[in-house]
Amino acid sequence: MNILERYHAMDYGPAPEARNEADAWLVARDFGKALFIGGDWKAAGSGKTFDTSDPSSGKLLAKVSDASAADIDAAVSAAAKALPKWSARSGYSRAKVLYAIGRAMQRHQRLFTVLETIDNGKPIRESRDIDVPLAIRHFIHHAGWAQALDRDFPGQKGVGVVGQIIPWNFPLLMLAWKIAPALAAGCTVVLKPAEFTPLTAILFAEICERSGVPKGVVNIVQGGPEAGAAIVNHPGIQKIAFTGSSEVGKIIRKATAGSGKKLSLELGGKSAFVVFEDADLDSAVEGLVDGIWFNQGQVCCAGSRLLVQEGIADAFIAKVKIRMSRLRVGSPLDKNTDIGPLVDLTQLDRVKGLVAEGAKQGAVCWQPDVALPSSGYYHLPTLATGVSPANILAQEEVFGPVLATMTFRNTEEAVELANNTRYGLAASVWSENVNLALHVAPQLKAGVVWVNGTNMFDAACGFGGYRESGFGREGGREGMFEYLSAKLPLGPVIKPATSSAQPIEQVESEGIDRTAKLFIGGKQVRPDGNYSIAVATAKGRLAGEVGLGSRKDIRDAVAAARACKSWPEATAYNRSQVLYYLAENLSGRAEEFAARITELTAATAKAAREEVELSIERLFLYAGLADKFEGRVHQPPARAVTLALHEPVGIVGIVASDNAPLLGLISLVAPALAMGNTVVAVPSEKYPLLATDLYQVIGYSDVPAGAINIVTGRSAELAGVLAKHDDVDGLWVFADAETCAKAEADSVGNLKRVWTGNGRSLDWASVEAAGDAFLRRAVEVKNVWVPYGD
Ligand code: NAD
Repeated sequence: MNILERYHAMDYGPAPEARNEADAWLVARDFGKALFIGGDWKAAGSGKTFDTSDPSSGKLLAKVSDASAADIDAAVSAAAKALPKWSARSGYSRAKVLYAIGRAMQRHQRLFTVLETIDNGKPIRESRDIDVPLAIRHFIHHAGWAQALDRDFPGQKGVGVVGQIIPWNFPLLMLAWKIAPALAAGCTVVLKPAEFTPLTAILFAEICERSGVPKGVVNIVQGGPEAGAAIVNHPGIQKIAFTGSSEVGKIIRKATAGSGKKLSLELGGKSAFVVFEDADLDSAVEGLVDGIWFNQGQVCCAGSRLLVQEGIADAFIAKVKIRMSRLRVGSPLDKNTDIGPLVDLTQLDRVKGLVAEGAKQGAVCWQPDVALPSSGYYHLPTLATGVSPANILAQEEVFGPVLATMTFRNTEEAVELANNTRYGLAASVWSENVNLALHVAPQLKAGVVWVNGTNMFDAACGFGGYRESGFGREGGREGMFEYLSAKLPLGPVIKPATSSAQPIEQVESEGIDRTAKLFIGGKQVRPDGNYSIAVATAKGRLAGEVGLGSRKDIRDAVAAARACKSWPEATAYNRSQVLYYLAENLSGRAEEFAARITELTAATAKAAREEVELSIERLFLYAGLADKFEGRVHQPPARAVTLALHEPVGIVGIVASDNAPLLGLISLVAPALAMGNTVVAVPSEKYPLLATDLYQVIGYSDVPAGAINIVTGRSAELAGVLAKHDDVDGLWVFADAETCAKAEADSVGNLKRVWTGNGRSLDWASVEAAGDAFLRRAVEVKNVWVPYGD
């Protein structure tokens, strides 16, 4: 054997990380008192515990206190008690605590690393180089936000007591993503780790004890779904931040509907890994290894769908198979290990079941010839080819080391395939042509896009999804908003509509038809049901009739809004000009609109004129802001820039209230339009004629057909239809409390972003009823990572 042959025949020797310190910690700790509540260590009131074990051997690690609803209640009380003092502290004072936590974590970095690997099964290289350093960075980064709060978030304050529920795949990192921004914002927290991975959170609570965190500011409870549900349903909590499966996310969306709790959901994904034929294939293969086999594929943003351009597909797959054969599957404590065990037997069975089903549905599943350890929950890296877009492996989140492969012919097909999922968390685009990559990135329905890279994260960059991947962002400036709230000027409580008017069957008129129609796709159309409702003047006389919109009309309006491509694709300057023109044209008919307001609402002539003037001013404001509410460029500590782009949410449903019927409608429609959304608006149920007058103005203001659609009718019913419609991306409802709650509950189908007034209207005339708070709701922040350098 010559030297070269010897070299190639050489195998890795074992390189295990020592675990004595972690074992000593495990022995010394009393896990029967593992609830960290009000600064004390408590046993569960019920005395119950649950087991946590080592996935590489199945051996028991600890029996951990299992919190009951009463324990959660105690934790929420402790957080509520600590809140006034903590939130009143100066930013500098809170910053020092966050910094101290980060520094203390650094001092115990190795213990955190080993414990994370023992409890979760992730390779030590990952916990050492990614999870723990990033968690530390989060605390140190957010120390800065604590101090910069007044400067960067004027008028905003912490939301209060926050309930936080996290999954098992990145136990410490998810904890850091949750706790750091909450503390920076002046909130206090009750956090529940996942039941498979309680350990590093317990060590973190010890760190809090030693880092000057006041008692009750951080409470860490342990347990499973029941403890989680007790947090979600606790009335003493003002915000729920959840990371986990879409299934549980939907349960939480329903459970919090109507409660007024702020909510952020970071859910599952089925992210596309798109390789164009001009990509650097070797780099793309390495990226893929990181994209799908990082943490055994138990990553929400795992690049689990490989989309590769037809011309290079065979060559690329061949390279992937060679690389897969070299992946080292084994003890997660070994520094050479690429793939460790899955977290638990249930997870292993689930992954096996999905692979078997995918194969049954026609996928060809290939695995390298690599020996698995004799114990532990290991699954071989798996490559599925011949996967049809409908195959379960292309549609379902496997959350395991399984890659589904499909091919595409051209850019359009790549985008279409990439977006063919109900999720929208992340995507990777591989091409040496930066023009192509940056052309494709904005077209991908995903909250994070990595160009020629994957799984890059940083505390300064927002992370979060679209559609069933949830809503809200974690990290950076955009993440801070999730823990802050701006006071909006409250208007009257909205009572449920009690219109006694019965629908009047619409008779084909022999004379002139006075019924105002619906406005859909740029045209005035009759309501599908051919019913109208009478609209009364302030004096109780018939002012006119408007169409009684139905489910079918909303469907048509949504289809028209979707078909309108020119508005979202228009430049911001273009949109700005159209909004200015709309303002100009409304101004030309100001007297007429003022008279209509007086006729319908009995407002004085002066008040009516003021409402019209304010409506024009607001259109002017959003026309001006259309090209100014821009994204940012983040500069993470990597050779990359991260473009935090503001994108339109998509189709926004708007249900306006009766107070200030013209100004209220315009205050909602204008910011949505300014940011490039298309709108389906349900105007005031009582005074719809202002909206039907308005569409005449819209008709000659260069607004493209379908950009604004107006469906008159019963607000409660139409809000429900919009909430259930899976092609509506956002919904803003100013209606009675029951309608608002129902809209939130009914939005679970596609997890659209719902914003309601919880039964209150706003004081639309107030200057605070306009501006960034509205624009922020009109955009999604997409973080596009663009690397540089050779
Ligand atoms: P899971 O939804 O089963 O559990 C997550 C957490 O919710 C756990 O702490 C669990 O105890 C708790 N829980 C379960 N049922 C509950 C209920 N009814 N009410 C309240 N809490 C409840 O998810 P998992 O299996 O632990 O984690 C995997 C999922 O997490 C995957 O879908 C993954 O994509 C997702 N995830 C998303 C992100 C992200 O940022 N988008 C990050 C990591 C993981």
